[in-house]
Amino acid sequence: MAKPKKNKAPVKMEKLMSLCKRRGFIFLSSEIYGGQSAFWDFGPLGVEIKKNIKELWWKSMVHENENIEGLDASIIMHPRVWEASGHVAGFNDPMVDCKECKKRFRADDIESERCPDCGGELTSPRQFNLMFKTHVGPVEDSASIAYLRPETAQGIYVNFLNVVNSSRQKVPFGIAQTGKAFRNEITPGNFIFRSREFEQMEMQFFVKPDTADYWMDYWKKQRWDFHIRLGIRSERIRWHEHGPGELAHYAKTAFDIEYRFPFGWAELEGIHNRTDFDLKMHTEFSHKDMSYFDQENNERFIPYIIETSAGCDRTMLEILADAYEEEPGEKENRVVMRMSPLVAPIKAAVFPLVRRDGMPEQAREIYLELKNEFPVFYDESGTVGRRYRRMDEAGTPYCITVDSQTKEDDTVTVRDRDTMEQVRVKTGDLKNMIRDSIENYKRPETVDIFEETYVE
Ligand code: ATP
Repeated sequence: MAKPKKNKAPVKMEKLMSLCKRRGFIFLSSEIYGGQSAFWDFGPLGVEIKKNIKELWWKSMVHENENIEGLDASIIMHPRVWEASGHVAGFNDPMVDCKECKKRFRADDIESERCPDCGGELTSPRQFNLMFKTHVGPVEDSASIAYLRPETAQGIYVNFLNVVNSSRQKVPFGIAQTGKAFRNEITPGNFIFRSREFEQMEMQFFVKPDTADYWMDYWKKQRWDFHIRLGIRSERIRWHEHGPGELAHYAKTAFDIEYRFPFGWAELEGIHNRTDFDLKMHTEFSHKDMSYFDQENNERFIPYIIETSAGCDRTMLEILADAYEEEPGEKENRVVMRMSPLVAPIKAAVFPLVRRDGMPEQAREIYLELKNEFPVFYDESGTVGRRYRRMDEAGTPYCITVDSQTKEDDTVTVRDRDTMEQVRVKTGDLKNMIRDSIENYKRPETVDIFEETYVE
């Protein structure tokens, strides 16, 4: 894949990271102990976005397609799986160490002969396996070695026959799963872009070999549309086709969807034609025949696999980076997270204008009513202006304020996050308004004041 080069974090990334901590999207793991590098914890707002991404992905794969089944395989699998997949022998990155500061880098990330941090001399490249090892059972010997899975895909391949035999599916069909994967990355970085524990959303589609090109095109289109559906600006995503030197040994064709992060264009997900490599390898290593019998045409074959492999954390970073905007203000800039209400962690906030005259009671009544259907937030502390700003940073599309007029005509003001315009709405119409914004959100055209800090 096109790797982001090691750059100084541009201004926008630094600001985004600080907002993520301030507002409770993302925290460094075990921070009170100094942090565990390249492991992240998702706070109250972050976990909601992640859940939204995974639910939308699951819906678009499993629920909307008759020919896709779901799966949840275990993280620790039989160690032979990783021999068959090629990970034990080949899941390596060449790495170099700095002889001075002892830092370790991926050899292909380094542009000069010297250490990028201190200028020290580097060792020659050595292979480094990215799988985390552990032991199963009480004895820590070579017979008990197991690995934390570095990808979710293998859990799908080893269950291919189980799903064929237990469901009514016939090729072409797919199996989808989301779950954690672990890689002992040498040079993690760019926030949650490359971490050592992350979540994947993978779907493996089993097809007749001579139809693989058709299905490749089909899934490319579906996956592109998914990112647009998440509200991402189309000019910030692009295709990258793997050239001959980049193609994995098992792949016939491979395309990545890349997003233009502030640190450069980088991979979000891959759509690969993996041929019959995986099922052939598992047949060889397990001695179980993983071919498929097509009853209609009376023929037996090993299906080709079209894989769509996305990272949930990278998709979240895509959403956050796409959403983050600052608008010049008189005293200070307005920071606003313009994300689609579909993925926004809080769909609306409810405020009493002041803490008297029955306004808090009315506001809480509205809050409780909306809470049945959407994640909503109640806030009565500080000035309304401050409350608006907090919700802008959380990406909340609407702020609903109860004022003195509410008692008279049962209307509230609704302030739009993107335009800051306010309209009066009948309390009975609030649910429909929020539902409509979730389904039909259109992002306004805006100017990115950080444009010049982006890395090409
Ligand atoms: P890279 O070259 O960036 O390490 P890759 O090509 O090895 O990625 P794949 O093995 O194709 O990635 O994994 C599929 C998806 O899983 C990636 O597109 C990405 O979204 C996600 N992913 C892979 N490694 C990481 C990681 N270390 N941190 C977060 N997400 C990851």
